[in-house]
Parts: sequence; C-alpha cells; structure tokens
Amino acid sequence: MKYNPVQNYINGKFVDVSSRRTLDVISPIDGKLLSKVPMSTAGDLDLAVRSARSAFLKWSRMPIKERVQVFYQYKYLLEKYLKELSELVSEENGKTINEAVAEVEKSIELTEFACSLPQLVTGEVLEVSRGVECRTEHVPLGVVASIVPFNFPNMVPNWTIPNAIALGNCMIIKPSEKVPLSCGRMAQLLKEAGLPDGVFNIVNGDSEIVEAICDHPEIEAVSFVGSTKVAKIVYQRATGNFKRVLALGGAKNHLMVLPDAKADMTAQNVAASMSGCAGQRCMAASAMVGVGNVDHIIDKICDEARKIVPGKNLGAVISKEAKERIEKYITEAEKQGAKILVDGRNARVEGKENGAYVGPTVIDYVKPEMAVAKEEIFGPVISIMRTKSLDEALEIENSNPYGNAASVFTQNGGLARYVIDHASAGMVGVNVGVPVPREPFSFGGWNESKFGVGDITGKSSIEFWTKLKKSTTKWNPEAGVNWMS
Ligand code: NAD
Repeated sequence: MKYNPVQNYINGKFVDVSSRRTLDVISPIDGKLLSKVPMSTAGDLDLAVRSARSAFLKWSRMPIKERVQVFYQYKYLLEKYLKELSELVSEENGKTINEAVAEVEKSIELTEFACSLPQLVTGEVLEVSRGVECRTEHVPLGVVASIVPFNFPNMVPNWTIPNAIALGNCMIIKPSEKVPLSCGRMAQLLKEAGLPDGVFNIVNGDSEIVEAICDHPEIEAVSFVGSTKVAKIVYQRATGNFKRVLALGGAKNHLMVLPDAKADMTAQNVAASMSGCAGQRCMAASAMVGVGNVDHIIDKICDEARKIVPGKNLGAVISKEAKERIEKYITEAEKQGAKILVDGRNARVEGKENGAYVGPTVIDYVKPEMAVAKEEIFGPVISIMRTKSLDEALEIENSNPYGNAASVFTQNGGLARYVIDHASAGMVGVNVGVPVPREPFSFGGWNESKFGVGDITGKSSIEFWTKLKKSTTKWNPEAGVNWMS
C-alpha cells in the first residue's frame, strides 16, 4: 500500500474513525492498492459538526476582507504544489497528468474568485423614508456540508470550499470514497494557509455518512455533486429535514453539428470533448446529432479519435466495473444495429494490464430510443444520430431528461442563437465542445442535472451560502414621523 490509511480531519487534526469498516482505494491506472478509506459513523460526523460549530463563532465574525486572506495564501499553495497535487489526482482518479494539471489550475481560478468576494457582497442601503434606512447584509449560514464525486478529486471540492468558507461558513466535506486522498492534502494546505482549526473538516465514508449528513440537525445547508440517482436521494432527504440543498446530478450532453461547421475545428472539439478525462466529465459530449449531410465531419472525428491512445493521451476510467459497464453499452448498441466506427473495447496498455482502460469509441447510426442515446455512459464514447432538420435535433436534445450542456457547431450566427434559445440545457456552447463557464460566471445545469435554486459557483453561489439580514434603522428622533417611519 503506497499511502498510509486515510483518516478523517477534524478540528485541525487527522483522526481515526470509530468503525473498522474500510474500502480499498485502487489506482485505475494499474490496479494497485493506494490506501484504505475508513467508513465513518454518525458519531464521527457529530464530532466534526461540533468542531465546526465552535469554530463558526469566531470565523463568522471576522470581516470577510480578513477571511479571504487565507484564500490568497491557499491559491499560492495550490500554485506552489501544482505538480504534486496533479500527480495525486492522476494516481487516484486515472486521468492523464495534463488533465490533472488543468483540474488543479481550475481550482486556482475558483480560489481567485473567492478572493474577489468582498467586492461582491457589499449589500445595499437606502433611505426609505425621512431619516429611516433599510440595509441588507449577506450573513453566513453556519455549518454546511459538501458531498463530492470521484471525477474531479481536486476541482469539485474547490467549487465549494473557497466560496462557502470565505463567506463565513464552516464546512464538512465528504470526499468520494474512490478518491479520498486529494481532499486530505487540501486540508493540509488550508491549514498552512492559515485557516483556523475546525473551519474545514473531512468525514470519509459512503452512503451511510451521506444519509447522516442529510439528517444532522446542526447542518444548515448541503451541496451535492454526483449522479442524478443520488442527487435525488440527497435532495429529498435533506430538504425533508428543512435544509437548504443544491444537488447537481448527471448529464447527457448533445452536440449539434451543421453541415457548414468548420470541419477540422469541429472534429477536434468533438473528439476532445467526448474523450477528455476518459469521458468522465459531466460536461462531456456524449451524443452528437448530425443535421443533414455531415459525413465529411464524421470521417474527421474518427481520424481524431484514432489519435487518442489509452495510456498515452487518454487516461483510465475509474474502475474495472466502470470499464465493463461502458463496454456493455457499446456491445448493446452494436447488437441493436448501430455501427461502431472506432472501437475502444478491449483496450490494453502495455505494463498496465490491470488498468481500467477504454479506448475512444465512435458509434454511428444510433437511434434516439437506444440506451447509448439516452443514458449517461460516462466513458470516452460518442453516439451519433442523424436528423434532416435542426428542429428535429433540438427535439432529441429537449426530450432527454438531463440538461447540463448542449453545443452547436456552425458558422451561421442566426442558427447558433436559435440553439441557445431552444436547447433545454443550463450551459450552451457555440463552436465549443465543453461549454464550462469561466469565473465569475456560474456553473449549473437544468432539469435532472440539478435540483435546487441557483448555481454552485460564481456570483450565484453567494445566494446559496448566505442568508440576507434586513435591518431598518432610525437614528434621528427629530425626523418627522409618517406612516413609514
Ligand atoms: P455518485 O452519485 O455515485 O457519488 C457521489 C457521492 O455520493 C459520493 O461521495 C458517494 O459516496 C455518495 N453516494 C453514492 N451512492 C450513494 C447513495 N446511495 N446514497 C447516498 N450517497 C451516495 O457519483 P460518482 O460516480 O462519484 O460521480 C459521477 C457522477 O457525478 C456522474 O453522474 C456525473 O455526471 C456526476 N457529476 C455531475 C457534475 C455536475 O456538475 N452536474 C459534476 C461532476 C460529476
């Protein structure tokens, strides 16, 4: 085992959990055991909540301009340890080093945004009647929880940590049991950056601890990022306990390709979108709809896909089970009459025979009713459907229950605008394969890709992590009295 067993992080210290139940942390790159992650109990969670509650008293009363000083330092540390943090991400998640570097760089951008929060939470004040002022202030909620998935071990935690904490909350994070190592390292960096003990805590575990988070009476708000199935469970359970909840779910993102699209650029974007992070991005292109004759572009997509080589510029998927599940989707589509133009099944990487690799896969002549057209595959696979008109393509996109992202590839501005207006997705791209909004714009899908109000990053997150205090004051007793004062 390469690393020491994972521990919880409570009140500024790494501590053992009360149960003996553990799960193996396996590197998808070569199947080697990296560590063991403990399964915490409700009692372990309670210790973390108590630590966060007592830290909240002091932390929430510090002016935000002081609180963000920690995040200036944290950003510097993310930059300083970029290489080491990226290697850890790659090792536990399986993505390539370049992808892991991009992930940590995104965490740096998220932290920069948090440093700008004092400029964005200035509140409002107005003399509403003679001598009477109304004022609004953003007030932190208290102890909040963040439950995160396996696919971005560094970035997704940083969607929530810097903003929630800079806004004055104290946090408990529940890492994915598949990739718990990156969060532990972040705890060390936050401490080195000057974050007081108890403000940030880690509780490791699986569904049992997620349920305990949803039920804990002293946790005010829960953010969740993961599959739609679990997002629904968390949303229902935590709102049932009267908590504020934002739960981001899975995705099935459609790219619409029109015949006038620039062929080389489109092919590169489609191939990169479907295969980046081995297709394990909630913003990955998973379905493509060719409108009219786009055969020349599909040929180029296949050429691009063939340049993507497992173990070289394509990482592993998270586990052997994930590999089997993805390959089953491909085989099922083939049996139902779809044509496999580029086949990533049975990929093997020399020297990494125990790795979980799936090669890039392009499936053509997919019908909208097939599972590969409808369901989230979460692997480097693109399912191509054909339509005669853009409206038919939009109908396919609209009828999918998810709604994270959609993109159109065209040189026609009017048609691009039409897609922006009519796609049923929270994030739309024009000639962009992965239309992730950059800070300060917020990230969040629609429909079954997100439950709750607002977005998880950017300015929108301020509303989620704070509540408004409204005060009405009158200091001049000589001011005339009227019906409003
Ligand atoms: P997951 O839903 O299996 O797990 C997410 C978290 O929930 C983990 O911490 C896990 O321990 C916990 N969990 C798992 N099963 C549970 C259960 N039955 N009850 C309570 N908690 C449970 O997701 P994953 O496999 O880690 O991540 C991949 C999924 O996340 C994909 O569907 C992907 O689209 C989605 N995702 C979405 C976004 C977004 O922004 N919408 C971003 C990243 C990932």
